Amino acid sequence: MSIAKIWVVAEVVDGAATTTSLELVSHARALADTVEVVVWGDGASAAGTLGEYGATTVYDVGDLGGALPGAPVAAAIAAAVTAGTGPDDVLLPATYDGRDIAGRLSVKLDRPVLTNVVDLTAADGVLSSQHAIFGGAEILTARFTGEGPGIFVIRAKSFPAEPSGGAAAAVVAATAPDTGASNAARIVARHVEERTGPKLDEAAVVVSGGRGLGEKEQYVLIEQLAALLHGAAGASRAIVDAGWVPYSHQVGQTGKTVKPTVYMACGISGATQHMVGMKNSKNIIAINKDQDAPIFQVADLGIVGDVHKVIPKLIEALQARS
Ligand SMILES: Cc1cc2nc3c(=O)[nH]c(=O)nc-3n(C[C@H](O)[C@H](O)[C@H](O)COP(=O)(O)OP(=O)(O)OC[C@H]3O[C@@H](n4cnc5c(N)ncnc54)[C@H](O)[C@@H]3O)c2cc1C
Repeated sequence: MSIAKIWVVAEVVDGAATTTSLELVSHARALADTVEVVVWGDGASAAGTLGEYGATTVYDVGDLGGALPGAPVAAAIAAAVTAGTGPDDVLLPATYDGRDIAGRLSVKLDRPVLTNVVDLTAADGVLSSQHAIFGGAEILTARFTGEGPGIFVIRAKSFPAEPSGGAAAAVVAATAPDTGASNAARIVARHVEERTGPKLDEAAVVVSGGRGLGEKEQYVLIEQLAALLHGAAGASRAIVDAGWVPYSHQVGQTGKTVKPTVYMACGISGATQHMVGMKNSKNIIAINKDQDAPIFQVADLGIVGDVHKVIPKLIEALQARS
């Protein structure tokens, strides 16, 4: 028996639903009879796409006047639940705003939150969530008991985003009750990090570097190789913590989850916290001078060698081809 109604909190940036939002809507389709979405700001402009991926209704909390979405969006969802028109379960992306909304909703509904979800299944009208724990070494299954909707915060790339060919979702205004001082903060500036290639979590090819590069200056090898492969440059936490590259490059448990067609790990040992963020990549290539490095356990192609010798050769070969 599936779930009657799931709401997905969807993020819309510059009029387009984020890939993670579409992943949640796509998967919700397989779990529930009805999938509806909650948006804010210019989110209603994505009603066509959200419908194509399976949403029938878009509840639009509307213009937030520069406020953070946490308080008003949580209040709007809680109001619908109290009025008896809310969902059986709420799915949120594991983003800053998704987590903020989930926490506030949890307080309002007096329900816990299940976070870091990597899979969701439905049985007997109840959702069960899977969580990667101990750096992804173990999978734990959890579910809600008691009255009230389940609140699930889901990691990016847990499900594929697949359109179902549905019609545009109907847009319905969802008024947020007054949230007083909790809604006082205003967004005064946004910084969009400059980048030339594709986004790390959406690239078909990701080339990541680790401590094996030896020094910050060697990261240019990773950037060159990524650019030649039309991919994105990633990193292990070791070199992010060392200040070689910004945090936005980090792949892993406390960084980004990536699922490219090709993932290249260069001078990365393969700690569980790194692998949890990349091990579902379609093809994994590892370059490491230690033949016993754990990364080789998940690699489809392993190159035992020095990154300072192997990567320049690869760059040379790719440049000769282009
Ligand atoms: C709570 C928590 C969260 C974490 N989250 C993350 C996360 O999100 N992402 C993440 O990456 N890590 C994370 N970590 C850190 C993780 O445990 C590892 O410390 C980190 O991934 C190691 O990075 P590394 O592989 O670059 O470095 P190392 O483990 O030092 O490995 C370097 C590798 O390079 C190889 N090497 C050395 N020289 C060369 C050479 N010349 N050529 C080829 N190979 C060479 C070595 O053989 C070695 O295998 C987390 C840790 C904790 C506790």
